[in-house]
Amino acid sequence: MWKDTDVLLVIDVQNDFCPGGKLAVPGGDEVVPLINRIAHGFRHVILTQDWHPAEHKSFAAQHPAKNPFEIAMMHYGHQTLWPDHCVQGTHGAEFHKDLHVNAELILRKGFREEIDSYSAFFENDRTTPTGLGGYLRERGFEKVVCVGLAFDYCVRFSAEDARRLGFETEVIEAACRSIDLDGSAAAARQSFQEHGIALA
Ligand SMILES: [Zn+2]
Repeated sequence: MWKDTDVLLVIDVQNDFCPGGKLAVPGGDEVVPLINRIAHGFRHVILTQDWHPAEHKSFAAQHPAKNPFEIAMMHYGHQTLWPDHCVQGTHGAEFHKDLHVNAELILRKGFREEIDSYSAFFENDRTTPTGLGGYLRERGFEKVVCVGLAFDYCVRFSAEDARRLGFETEVIEAACRSIDLDGSAAAARQSFQEHGIALA
């Protein structure tokens, strides 16, 4: 049913975002068998991997007066502060062991110490590209289907940017889980509706 011009974007299905991880998304591991099944129907699959240096500025530990989930002002605007997570080379940064998809590309993001990257397409200043948009265009892809973690952060921003770059975009919500800070999951659904992003 999926065409050769469709690509599945599997976002951040990593140990630290699953139960027992450092920034666990409730039920995060539950998406793994479903994503395996969905990926089987695609000819093209891309994985993203949150990949932070140990002293990444999105970590609350780098802001002495702040706690996790508070907001800090960065040079590019507001940034939610997180517990340390997905540090390069650690177990927490590895993909969930039961994720079995045949990915053509693994895109790492958030590797610059001074800036976070929720989206697979742009860093959190909303202007520095990761290169994924150009890659997809050059490969001739037309539709981006998003699944993974977390629905209301990295999936949301990736889907919105895919749409902004002109790709037909769909999010399969059953294959996502939310962090849900202050109504962020409802805000994501609302935004998808406003941006013409299909929610399956
Ligand atoms: Zn991160």
